[in-house]
Amino acid sequence: MRPRDYASSLAERAPRDHKLAIAISDANWGELVRQLEYKAEWYGRKLVKIDRYFPSSKRCSNCGYVVEKLPLNIREWDCPECGIHHDRDINAAINILAAGLAVSVCGARF
Ligand SMILES: [Zn+2]
Repeated sequence: MRPRDYASSLAERAPRDHKLAIAISDANWGELVRQLEYKAEWYGRKLVKIDRYFPSSKRCSNCGYVVEKLPLNIREWDCPECGIHHDRDINAAINILAAGLAVSVCGARF
């Protein structure tokens, strides 16, 4: 997926939430992805992209349970399966790292 395609796909999700649409537009995701690709190549690294629908926030990074709904205003949550307490963003970062490693090491698809 090219950076512009990625940015477009993110923008397609946003119309339901006007504030989110503005935030994504302001962030210029396409430029961010282009910069990441450039820097990764510069340093001999591989940039791994995961599917935009990968449930990084809703998946428990401890046990893998996926909650059905997790509105954006919920910043912390407890996993109903294993009981661990999550910070939404830290949990998502752990899941994204794990998915990226799975793609680069095992060729998994997310
Ligand atoms: Zn859990």
